[in-house]
Formats: sequence, structure tokens, C-alpha cells
Amino acid sequence: MYDVIVVGGGPAGLTAALYAARAGKDVLVLEGESTGGQIQYSPLVDNYPGLPGMSGAAFAQALTEQVQNLGVHVRTEEVTFLRTQNGLLELTTPQGRYSAPALVLATGVSHRKLGLQGEDDLIGLGVSYCAVCDGAFYQGRPVAVVGGGDTALQEALFLSARCSKVTVIHRRDLFRGESRLVQQLREKNNVEFRLSCTVEALQSGPEGLTGLTLRDLKEDKTLELPADGLFVAVGQEPHSQVFANLVMTDDQGYFLAGEDCATSLPGVFAAGDCRVKSVRQLTTAVGDGAVAGLAASAYVDGRQN
Ligand SMILES: Cc1cc2nc3c(=O)[nH]c(=O)nc-3n(C[C@H](O)[C@H](O)[C@H](O)COP(=O)(O)OP(=O)(O)OC[C@H]3O[C@@H](n4cnc5c(N)ncnc54)[C@H](O)[C@@H]3O)c2cc1C
Repeated sequence: MYDVIVVGGGPAGLTAALYAARAGKDVLVLEGESTGGQIQYSPLVDNYPGLPGMSGAAFAQALTEQVQNLGVHVRTEEVTFLRTQNGLLELTTPQGRYSAPALVLATGVSHRKLGLQGEDDLIGLGVSYCAVCDGAFYQGRPVAVVGGGDTALQEALFLSARCSKVTVIHRRDLFRGESRLVQQLREKNNVEFRLSCTVEALQSGPEGLTGLTLRDLKEDKTLELPADGLFVAVGQEPHSQVFANLVMTDDQGYFLAGEDCATSLPGVFAAGDCRVKSVRQLTTAVGDGAVAGLAASAYVDGRQN
């Protein structure tokens, strides 16, 4: 039994724990893998205000230590079930059951990968899932974007203002994304389209990615594309299924919660990339964490008065 339980030990969850602990609450963080979330895989984070050039792993470690030094309990356990029980919220993990009057869900998202050989090893060395995060590292260099939805098109537009050349690769011959975005890209003289093409292999050297082998599905032949960066925008999956029996999500699975982080279930708050929002970044995740940690603490206080 705790005052506040946080599910997910990424930037949003750890920040929620920090604020709840500083509000005098007994806090448990349940993290299924390792604390730090997605940011621990970024070798260089250059857009966090006040800390240019930090490593994601160092940030994750410092935040974990900061939270643990405040007395927050951190357990490596994956939550598999949520129910309401005797007026409390009860979470199940393979190791046990934990109850609290208030929960913060900060479960983040997974970026869909292409599943290519070497893809994981090249993250941070040419392969990226976020143009806003990493685009600046490719200033004046050739890059490719793979995907056919709005995210891929927006990433290509963002990159076209910085990179020498942007090749947009899509497996179909029509984009799913907005035609307005396609038109804007067509008007750029450094953007090229490779439609009905897939990425078949990644080429790399000691410095990282050097190019892509593409397969032209119509011609059934391969072609080589030099590229220093590959931005993969083939979708994100919010980690919400475990809770979707009790907490409302949109049709893509993001928790329905606004700036106050309150969800459809009283006492449950959603923070970070897992909630409906337009910008998914480290800054927005920690912002949500602060709001959700304080809101959860206030909810506990409200029940006691
Ligand atoms: C390679 C890479 C580079 C990036 N670079 C930048 C950058 O330079 N700048 C920037 O602003 N942003 C960057 N981002 C984005 C940033 O990392 C995310 O926006 C941020 O981590 C979101 O934080 P979060 O806490 O909401 O979610 P996450 O970081 O996804 O953390 C969620 C945590 O919840 C855990 N979890 C999920 N389900 C369960 C469950 N059922 N039980 C227990 N635990 C669970 C997960 O294991 C995970 O640790 C990058 C992302 C990636 C992948």
C-alpha cells in the first residue's frame, strides 16, 4: 500500500515520482525494463533547455538517483493488470500486487522499427525515430525518411530545411498523409520521392550509416541510396492496452487526458508520451510528470480530508 504508484520509470514517470515524493507522499515506481525510458538510447540530447550536449543515459541515471535519494521505491516489475478494489487502485505484476489511492500512468510508446539487420546498433549513428530530436545533427548532409503518413511527411519537411537532400521512401505509390504536405514537399528542390520502394538493407562504416539498399517493388530491382541519416516514421504504439479496460484511450491507444493529466478514471493520471498530445519530447514528458505528480498528491490529500 502506497500513496501514489507510478507505472513507467521514464522521464515522465520519474518526474511524477519526484514531485509526489517532494509533496510528502510514499511513492512506488514500477518499471518493466530499466529506468530512464526511451531517452537512455540517445547518445546525444541537444534540445533539453540548459543542458546542451548531454547523454540520454547520463540524464536517465541522474534522474533515477535523484528520485531514489528522496526515498521513492523503484521496482523492476511489469504491470500486467489494473483493477479497482475496496476504493483503491490495485496493480498486478508477475511478482505481486500493489495498491494506492492514486496512480500515474507514464508508460510511453514504442517506435515501430523496420526490423532490418543492424538497425538497433545504428540508433544514434545514423538511424533515428525523431527528426525534431536528431535532425540538427545532419545539417548539410543527405538523409532519407521512410513512411507514408503525416509524421513521415512532417519529418521530411523539417529535415528539408537543414539537410542537403531528403529522400522520402514509401512502400505504396500514394501517401496516406495530407496532400497539402505532399505538395509542400514537391515544391522543395532538395526533396526526392522513392515510391513503391522499401528499405532492404542498411550500409554502414566505422562512423555509422553510409547508405541504404532500396527495393523497387514495381520494377523488382534493388538500388543504392547514399544517406548519412535514416529517419524511420512508420508508426508509434502507446503502451496502454493493460489499462484500457478501465482508462479511456483514443482510437490509436493514447490515454485521453488533457494538460491536467486527469484520465477518465478518478485518481488515475496519464503523463508523457502515452497521453494524447501534439509534441512528444523530453521537455513535454517532464512537464507532464510535474503536473501529474502534484495532481496525484492533491487527489490523495483530498481523500484524506
Ligand atoms: C533514440 C531516441 C532519441 C530521442 N532523442 C530525444 C531528444 O534528443 N530530445 C527529446 O526531447 N526527446 C528525444 N526522444 C524522445 C524522448 O525520449 C521521449 O519523448 C521521452 O522519453 C518520453 O518519456 P516518457 O516517460 O513519457 O516515456 P518513455 O521514455 O517511453 O518511458 C516509459 C517507460 O514505461 C515503461 N513501461 C511501459 N509499460 C509498462 C508496464 N506495463 N509496466 C511497467 N513499466 C512499463 C517502459 O519500459 C518505459 O521505460 C528520443 C527518443 C528516442 C527513442
